[in-house]
Amino acid sequence: MTHAEATASDSATDDVGPGPAMFDSIDPRTGEVVGRHRVNGPSDVDRAVASARGAAQWWADLGFAERRKSLTAWRRLLVSRMEEIAELMSAETGKPADDARMELVVAVDHLAWATKNAERVLGRRRVHAGMLMGNQTATVAYPPFGVVGVIGPWNYPVFTPMGSIAYALAAGNAVVFKPSEYTPGVGRLLGETFEQSLGAGRPVLQVLTGFGETGAALCRSGVDKLAFTGATATARRVLAACAENLTPTLIECGGKDPMIVDVDADLDAAADAAVWGAMANAGQTCVGVERVYVLEPVADEFLERVVERARAIRPGAEPTADFGPMTMVEQADVVADQLRDALDRGARPLVGGTASVRPPFVEPLVLAEVPEDSRAMTDETFGPMLTVNRVPDLEEAVRRANATSYGLGASVFSARRGEDIAARLRCGMVAVNGVVTFAAVPSLPFGGVGDSGFGRIHGEDGLREFTRAQAVTKQRFATPMPVMSFSRSARAMRALVGLARARHG
Ligand code: NDP
Repeated sequence: MTHAEATASDSATDDVGPGPAMFDSIDPRTGEVVGRHRVNGPSDVDRAVASARGAAQWWADLGFAERRKSLTAWRRLLVSRMEEIAELMSAETGKPADDARMELVVAVDHLAWATKNAERVLGRRRVHAGMLMGNQTATVAYPPFGVVGVIGPWNYPVFTPMGSIAYALAAGNAVVFKPSEYTPGVGRLLGETFEQSLGAGRPVLQVLTGFGETGAALCRSGVDKLAFTGATATARRVLAACAENLTPTLIECGGKDPMIVDVDADLDAAADAAVWGAMANAGQTCVGVERVYVLEPVADEFLERVVERARAIRPGAEPTADFGPMTMVEQADVVADQLRDALDRGARPLVGGTASVRPPFVEPLVLAEVPEDSRAMTDETFGPMLTVNRVPDLEEAVRRANATSYGLGASVFSARRGEDIAARLRCGMVAVNGVVTFAAVPSLPFGGVGDSGFGRIHGEDGLREFTRAQAVTKQRFATPMPVMSFSRSARAMRALVGLARARHG
C-alpha cells in the first residue's frame, strides 16, 4: 500500500458508495495533507476519452496558427503563476523551491518550442517523387492521432509529462492526463491553467487523478496513443494493456546512466557535475548520474574532489536545502538495500554509510570499488548515491558503461575525445563536458533504448511521435506508357526494365 492509498477515504471502486472515492496528496517533508483528489475509475476514464474525441476534432481543425495562440496564452499563464505552481511542486514532491522553478522554466521553454515549430515540422510538404513516379507530385503531412493518453511520474511532475503533453497538443491532439498519485495537485493545476487559457467547455486537456488502476483504465480506454513515463516494470503492464486495442505507445522508463571521466578531463567540472547529477532532486532523476567510470591516472584526484563536494551538501525540508526528502518514502529502503549489498560485497564507502538513510531523508552517499554485479551497479537506485569505479583505459570505460539493460542518458568528461566516446555509447542522449544538459535543449529528442524504453519526446521527433505520417501523391500528367495498369504494354515494361538496368544495374 502506498502513502496515498493509505489515506484514501473510500474504496477505489468506480462510482459506488455515498460519494466519489477520494485520496490525499501528502507533503513528504512533513507528512501534512496538501490536497484531496478524486479516485477516477474506469467509467470516468471512458467518459473523459469520449468527450476528448469531439474536442480533438475541434482542436485539430483550429490549425497551427490558432492553436499557437492558445498555447502561447497557456505558456504566459504558467510563467505568471510560477510561484504558486512551484510551491505546490515543492509541497507534493519535497523538492527545494529553486529546483521547482528551474523545472517549470525548462518545461515552459519546451512548450514554446513545440508551439513555434509544430507547423514547420508537421505541416504538409513536398518531397521528391523519384524517377519512376516523375509524373506525380508527392507530399507528406503529419496529422494528429486524435486523443493521446499521458501517464506521468512524480519526480519531475511538470517537466516530464509536459514532454508529452506540450508536444501532443501542439501537434493537434487532445490529451487525457493521469498524473502520479504523489503529484495529483500539480497535474490538476496544469489542466486548470490550460482550461483558463483556452476557455471552458473544450476538454482538450483533461486530468484524471487516481492510482495505478486509473492509469490501467486509460491504457484500455481506446485512446489513439498512450505516452507512458515511469518504471520499467510498470511499462510492461502498460504495454500488455495497450496490446488489447493495438494502441501505439511511447515508453520513457528509468536508467542507470554512466559518466566517463577521461585522463584529460577538467576534474573540477567533472566532480561538480557528478555530484549534482547524482544528488540533485535527491537522486530521483531518470537521467541522473548513477555510475562513474574514471580512468586510473586521474582517479584519486577526481575522487578527492567528489568527496569534498558531496560532504558539503545536505538534504532538508527548508526551501534552501540542497535537496529534499525521498518523495516516495519507501524508496529509502531500496537505497538502503543497494547500499548494504554493495558494502557486503566489498565496496568502499567514501561519503556516508548505512546511518545516512534517515527516511524520508537520505544523505549523500559515495561508494568506490563497487562490484559490477552488485545491485547498486545493475539496478536503478533513484536516490542520492554515486558509485565510482576506476578503469584502466577508455575501452573498458565504454564496455562497462554499455553493460546495462538500460540505455537512457550518459555523460562524458574529456578535453579531446568527448564526441568520439559519446558515439560509442548505447543510449539515447549524451552530455559532453556537462550533465543532463540535453534535456533542456528543446530541439533535441529525448528517450532511451532497452529497458529505458522507446520512442522520443522533445524536438522534431517528439512532435512527430504524436502524429501519423500521411503520404499523398497527385498525378501531374498522364504517363504515355502506364505500367500500373492491366493495359500496360510489353513496350512499356521493356522501357521500365531498361531504365532500371541503366540506373541500378
Ligand atoms: P511508476 O511506474 O510507479 O508510475 C508511473 C505512472 O504510472 C504513475 O502515474 C502511476 O500511477 C502509473 N501506473 C501505475 N501502475 C499502472 C498500471 N498498471 N497501468 C498504467 N499506469 C500505471 O513510476 P514512478 O511514478 O515511481 O516514477 C519513477 C520512474 O519513472 C523511475 O523509474 C524513473 O526513472 C522513471 N522516469 C523516467 C523518465 C524518462 O523520461 N525516461 C522521466 C522521469 C521518470 P500511480 O502513481 O498512481 O501509481
